[in-house]
Amino acid sequence: MSVVTRFAPSPTGRLHLGHAYAALFAWEAARRANGCFLLRIEDIDVTRCRAEFETGIYADLTWLGLDWEKPVRRQSGHLAEYSAAVERLAERGLVYPCFCTRAAIRAEIARAGAAPHGPDGPVYPGTCRNLASVERSARVAANLPYALRLDVARALAETGPLDWHDREKGRVVADPALFGDVVIARKEIPTSYHLAVTLDDHLQGVTLVTRGADLFPATHIHRLLQALLGLVTPDYHHHGLIAGADGARLAKRAGAPTLASLRETGSSPAAVRAMVGL
Ligand code: GLU
Repeated sequence: MSVVTRFAPSPTGRLHLGHAYAALFAWEAARRANGCFLLRIEDIDVTRCRAEFETGIYADLTWLGLDWEKPVRRQSGHLAEYSAAVERLAERGLVYPCFCTRAAIRAEIARAGAAPHGPDGPVYPGTCRNLASVERSARVAANLPYALRLDVARALAETGPLDWHDREKGRVVADPALFGDVVIARKEIPTSYHLAVTLDDHLQGVTLVTRGADLFPATHIHRLLQALLGLVTPDYHHHGLIAGADGARLAKRAGAPTLASLRETGSSPAAVRAMVGL
């Protein structure tokens, strides 16, 4: 089977060195295997994504010397596919509407005294999982906005134990309950990062997902979604994150130098590759 990798940035800002490393890592993995490299634009969050950042992604990657298969998949053009997948889960009773606001969740956790901490913070206390069905229907009829959450315990009862293969860690036993009942469709968008990325990797035939170690925990949920939706499980390679000069991770919002600014101040693509060690 030929290797298919991808780089999947969100156009919420200009690319920085951390992105260059992730893109080159995926591109090199495909090139070494004589495989295929895809670019996917993860633009479901319309409030944060901007066209100029998407244009910047194409320009920066081209400048770096990367090429990718066309057409580029843009998530905003596939909302109906995500909705259909959510509907398949809903029909099996695996999702429930959650009307909670962030403030209500905080208040519920404070009332309970504590909540287990997951990779994304405190785990949702399950308030809406236990709503009586008449109450649920009344709230839907009253047009209260709601997200859809995956009932992870029910889902796991369907799938049984799961694992995946990570190129760094070997066989990893999936523990999707770590996150609690994750949101799979947001109040304002008919999908979520977890659902869209998992479905896309399958639909695009990705065989090797390379991405930063910060996304390692997300794979626990992605593996569960694959099992529920009958999707192929790719191989994973979660790579280290590039640190800045001060040793701190280059997070998107940490003011890391962008590829555009490096280019403007005279850095060459070869210099950028050397900076990230690829
Ligand atoms: N869109 C995600 C990001 O920009 C990456 C998704 C993934 O590689 O799974 O962080």
